[in-house]
Amino acid sequence: MKTKNIIAALAFSAAMLTSCNSNSNNPLLEEWNTPFGVAPFDKIKVEHYKPAIIEALKQHTAEIDAIINNPAEPDFDNTIAALDASGDLFNRIYAVFESESSINATPQVMEVEMELVPLVSKHFDEISMNEKLFERVRFVYENRESMNLDPAQMKLLTDTYKSYERSGATLPQQSKDELKEINSRISELEMLFEQHLLKETGEYALVIDDQKNLAGLSQAQIAAAAKRAEGMGLENRWAFGLDNPSVMPFLQYADNAALRKEIAEAYLNRGNNNNEYDNKAIVIELVKLRDRKAEILGYKTYADYVLEDRMAKTSDAVYGLLDQLWKPALRSASAELADMKPLASKDGITDFGYSDWRYYFEKVKAAKFDYSDEELRPYLSFENVRKGIFYVANKLYGITFTQIENIPVPNPEAIAFECREADGRHLGVIYMDMFARPGLKRGGAWCTGYREQHYSNGERVAPVVTIVGNFTRGTGDEPALLTPDETSTFFHEFGHALQGLLQDVKYNGNASITRDFVELPSQIMEHWAFEPQVLKEYATHWSTGEVIPAYLIEKLDRVGKYGQGFATVEYLAASLLDMDYHTMDKIPEDLDVEKFESKVLSDRKILSQIPPRYRSTYFRHVFAGGYTVGYYSYIWAEVLDADAYEAFKETGDIFNQDVAGRFRKNVLERGGEDDAMTLYVNFRGKKPGIEPLLKNRGLK
Ligand SMILES: [Zn+2]
Repeated sequence: MKTKNIIAALAFSAAMLTSCNSNSNNPLLEEWNTPFGVAPFDKIKVEHYKPAIIEALKQHTAEIDAIINNPAEPDFDNTIAALDASGDLFNRIYAVFESESSINATPQVMEVEMELVPLVSKHFDEISMNEKLFERVRFVYENRESMNLDPAQMKLLTDTYKSYERSGATLPQQSKDELKEINSRISELEMLFEQHLLKETGEYALVIDDQKNLAGLSQAQIAAAAKRAEGMGLENRWAFGLDNPSVMPFLQYADNAALRKEIAEAYLNRGNNNNEYDNKAIVIELVKLRDRKAEILGYKTYADYVLEDRMAKTSDAVYGLLDQLWKPALRSASAELADMKPLASKDGITDFGYSDWRYYFEKVKAAKFDYSDEELRPYLSFENVRKGIFYVANKLYGITFTQIENIPVPNPEAIAFECREADGRHLGVIYMDMFARPGLKRGGAWCTGYREQHYSNGERVAPVVTIVGNFTRGTGDEPALLTPDETSTFFHEFGHALQGLLQDVKYNGNASITRDFVELPSQIMEHWAFEPQVLKEYATHWSTGEVIPAYLIEKLDRVGKYGQGFATVEYLAASLLDMDYHTMDKIPEDLDVEKFESKVLSDRKILSQIPPRYRSTYFRHVFAGGYTVGYYSYIWAEVLDADAYEAFKETGDIFNQDVAGRFRKNVLERGGEDDAMTLYVNFRGKKPGIEPLLKNRGLK
């Protein structure tokens, strides 16, 4: 996943350094005298955010006023570039706050968030609906042919103009007012959705007091559960939570079917417990508001509105891809189920359900391939995987990473690295904050920027990026040992970071990349993770130092894509759910979340044992913002990454310098400076085909 702050999304970003006299005791508003100009994380307290952000919004408004009141005729520099450079202070501060609210969501932080989100949303609505500003933008846009603009400038101008149009700048006042209200309510609901989900995930625990109920779990898993119980003040007990690193191993390995069912039920019903954290009403209101918003803006459905400026362009294109994959995926999943059922019935399980799937899948894998993730994990220590990631980045692009010791960090657990070009030039800073903090850090993994690469007065401003995860810490002498899934996730998020670090665009606005293209740089990185040639470099046993044995690599290769049926179906089901919610022409007055969801799935004859990867009430991608009508993006981008990786494979060298150079130059460095398909074709020499994806997923 990749999140970008609200500003970058709106293409109003910034270069100007703003000094400030008021609020002089607020470290956010003082000059950041830190290594590489990172935020003074160590000095920031919760109470600093609100006044700093209000001050930053005020300054942003003053910058906008200066653009509007400029007596000179509007041109690219005094209007488009000036707008692009405005709001620098806000961007820097708000990125820190957004990060805090996702990695350290204490009640105090959440409270500030509740107050700030509507203010910020209102501020940007006012800018995007500011008529005088829009008149200047329109003047430049209408005279663009005579302004001698280069392609990057033309792209920025077009994107800026379109974003005004798309936010309602051309509408009559009454519609504008309604839109403003809708936007502010949507922001509020999305934030509530996320907060409810954090609560529902953080407050649940399956507590076990009888040791025999731990049967099947590894020593490391048991130790982690004991530690969690201890944290809850419970001695001689074991606790499991609903965050993936805790619940998933339990579902994979715990022998006790009734307890698996208990925690699975809790997992599947997050936000659906008819309590104060229930998300059903929020989902319904969001779907209705988004539909109304699309209507006001002149679109038939919300999906039409969103997809217009994506690589996919239309919902037909999205459904086309999803439908093409659905049947083969369902077929694979049915075959997996048929492999598992005999084993389950031996255990007396007659109604094979969701909570049995992962457990018997592990059993089948063990029987069929003599394989278990547990066998691999000792070779995948957190530090070794990181070494592997840096190795791949170095082999591809010649860049290096060195840990920075004395630098403020966003969390005591985060570490920082300096990224340098092969010739030693500074490229940027990357933070890594990869371990779970249930109840404080939101789930999943993501990459975001504290500072986007851009140019200021002709000088490159180096980016500061961070990747965040929810891995399980090591226990006792044992370091954190990642599963193969977590290893892929680490490579994935690093891929996003790499794009941020290597990007070389002139304007902030050109850094904004469409959702369905932004996953290409991240997903392509996953291909290198398990290449034998790469594993040999980093996968050494954490205690013996032994390099991963050849037989294990061979085994991994044989297990290969087994299990992609389930993974593909649960993913596609979630994508279809997202699409179906937002392609309704008219939203039924009595929309019912549970009924709607089950209809979406039963109409497509999904297996009853496979729920969507995210059910509506905990589908944060879609209902907490960011990936609305966008969950399909991962598979859309997978068509691209499979095809792009094929470009390396075709040469017989996964580190082919010519291909790597072209990928860096045409894709990574360019950000959103051109249409996504154009950038891709510039790299590959042709449009992507779907064949490599089908082959990779074993769906052919
Ligand atoms: Zn991603």
